[in-house]
Amino acid sequence: MAGAVRSHGCLRLLGTHLKDLLYTKHCVLFDCDGVIWNGEKAVVGAPEVVSLLKKRGKSVFFVTNNCTRPRDGYLQKFSRLGFSDVVQSDILSSAYCSAVYLRDVAKVQGKVYVIGGDGVYTELHEAGVPAVGREPEIPGATIYDCPLDSDVKAVLVGYDDKLNFLKLAKACCYLRDPDCLFLATDRDPWHPLPRGRVSPGSGSLAAALETAAGRRATVVGKPGRFMFDCIAGRFGVDPARTVMVGDRLETDILFGRTCGVDTVLTLTGVSTLEQAQGYRDSPASEEAACVPDYVVDTVADFLPALDEER
Ligand SMILES: [Mg+2]
Repeated sequence: MAGAVRSHGCLRLLGTHLKDLLYTKHCVLFDCDGVIWNGEKAVVGAPEVVSLLKKRGKSVFFVTNNCTRPRDGYLQKFSRLGFSDVVQSDILSSAYCSAVYLRDVAKVQGKVYVIGGDGVYTELHEAGVPAVGREPEIPGATIYDCPLDSDVKAVLVGYDDKLNFLKLAKACCYLRDPDCLFLATDRDPWHPLPRGRVSPGSGSLAAALETAAGRRATVVGKPGRFMFDCIAGRFGVDPARTVMVGDRLETDILFGRTCGVDTVLTLTGVSTLEQAQGYRDSPASEEAACVPDYVVDTVADFLPALDEER
């Protein structure tokens, strides 16, 4: 029967149903890349959606595994792309949450060796967590003779477009100590680039290090629930009155499911409706956790429901 819903999930969110859902939710979590923007272009209508949700009294948070910028860099991007009423405390990146985790949960006593970029270093600095890993090496240094810092008590791996063999090797050496904490910002495998190109994500770098070190990293970002715990702990968010909007099934939708919140897949990013339906129709239980409750073509589909309340 064409158009019939055969099992739970992947419901097209339209009209009254969409309005009802937004009415019952007090908190909306958005992923960023592929959801509210693609690169340097805002998804059409996304700034208005965020603004109207806030005007309606909803709490809006942005939960991103992209660790390349610090939160004030994100704030500039929000402003540049026309999101006029976003504040820094609305933004939770895997870089920021990794710094919070190291400071408040792991309470690391010593330095963190970082594979990562400015976003990670800046957030660690602002959290007061000492970080090493981007000092210039002595020319010609190799893993046989480079200095190692005996005060390193944790290794944090995230997206690093300057990663080289020596960095990876040094991280492996630190992780030989079983008391050295091993963290990854996130497991995103790759990211789409313009003209069909892709870039390896933090997850692929973490996997290389895990293989070499023979250990598994603790992952801070989605689909783990630490980002949600950061929000819930500070703002008292109720999962039953929260909805997560994302573009990647294995990250955003699984995150929402893990946190016990309703999920919306938007089709402006990585995952497709066919993939979501494939998971829905699969007998594998781990795939069922990646099935979104609802699907929209774009977050702009929220606009009519929000407009009507004006
Ligand atoms: Mg995304």
